[in-house]
Amino acid sequence: MKYYSTNNTSARVAFKEAVFNSMPQDEGLYMPVSIARLDEGFLDNLDSYTLPEIAFHVAKNLLGDDIPENDLKAIIREAINFYAPAVELEERIYVLELFHGPSLAFKDFGARFMSRVMSYFLEAGEKQLDVLVATSGDTGGAVALGFLGVPNTRVTILYPKGKVSGIQELQLTTNGRNIRAIEVDGTFDDCQALVKQAFTDPQLNAKFRLTSANSINIARLIPQTFYYFNAYAQLLKEGKSKVVFSVPSGNFGNIGAGLLAWKMGLPVEQFIAATNANNTVPEFLKTGVYQARPSVQTISNAMDVGNPSNWVRIEDMFKQDSEGLKRLITGFSYTDEETLAAVEKIYSLYNYIACPHTAIAWQALKDWQQDQPAGKATGVFLSTAHPCKFPDVLPEHIAKAIVIPEEVKKLEGKTKQAASLGTGFEEFKRYLLENK
Ligand SMILES: *Cc1c(COP(=O)(O)O)cnc(C)c1O
Repeated sequence: MKYYSTNNTSARVAFKEAVFNSMPQDEGLYMPVSIARLDEGFLDNLDSYTLPEIAFHVAKNLLGDDIPENDLKAIIREAINFYAPAVELEERIYVLELFHGPSLAFKDFGARFMSRVMSYFLEAGEKQLDVLVATSGDTGGAVALGFLGVPNTRVTILYPKGKVSGIQELQLTTNGRNIRAIEVDGTFDDCQALVKQAFTDPQLNAKFRLTSANSINIARLIPQTFYYFNAYAQLLKEGKSKVVFSVPSGNFGNIGAGLLAWKMGLPVEQFIAATNANNTVPEFLKTGVYQARPSVQTISNAMDVGNPSNWVRIEDMFKQDSEGLKRLITGFSYTDEETLAAVEKIYSLYNYIACPHTAIAWQALKDWQQDQPAGKATGVFLSTAHPCKFPDVLPEHIAKAIVIPEEVKKLEGKTKQAASLGTGFEEFKRYLLENK
């Protein structure tokens, strides 16, 4: 399968190149040249397939022959080795738990698949791949654990000092082996600026084979389509075939993957884009004007994005039909107060603890259902992270009730290892050159 740039559909590259480049030179994003509808035999019988079987079918549709079938199956078996259960909370409301991977966030789907694909394409004797990644918390953990022990790769994670949660910091800084962490005395934007500058530095590029692991990489998007099909399959087993997905959104990769699944034939009635105060997309859906803004800080900080980079992919999928886009997606945004109120309501209604991002998706689903005729679609809201990653922003009585997963308890005994740097590029560059 060839991939084009959203800025120039005639410039085409193979999947391998799209993965290693991450972003085309013209700063568009890679998209598959064709997004074919899956065969009807598969779509009609989704409920008879397991998650890895679904993943294979869907990936094959987007990759063509770029990875031979048996190799693709092996990549999927290694990458998608955890469940994504859809749990019923009440009549017509399910939570799709995407946090059962090693970093306890949905980003494990993308990061694990991408790391295996990169490693697969690295040929014997090739130069080590140096992955640079800036994180506000969740991306770094997923990428670190995704690449941990993957041969011929090394990961350098930059995170803002004092601005990630305790568990997130342990996930970033206690791995050793081919993973190293740098604590930057600044903000997430400072971290991102350092990474961006490294990619354009001739000396660093001569020395290292640098690549990015951020969410615009097409190899992170593709595996996120798998769980939409799998969620639908789970609902079909319970006799439900009219489904609505509510997606807590920041960079719009997650909901973008849902729309890609829809394009491939998944019969979704409606997508709900749920955001915090960073409401660029809900505003666009309301007014028709897309106005990017600087991000504002919230308690659902993995969604603090003022200009979602994956939006261009969504526009690309609907370039013939922008009215269709506005019908298929509806937007809701919430303040921090409303987010906390949603966390409390979820806890008191179902005795269930949702992270702040997840709570926003629940509230959006509730508000959407309120306006719908009774008894129609079943709502699924996506739970993007385990609440134990965000104890400090949750009400104390709820934070105390979180059941800490075993793998997190193991982290707590480990010692943090991270280099400490300022925000200057020369200092970062010196670190990279001196720590080969
Ligand atoms: C990254 C993240 C999001 C936002 O996902 P996008 O694909 O960027 O829209 C939401 N919730 C959590 C917990 C995240 O880590």
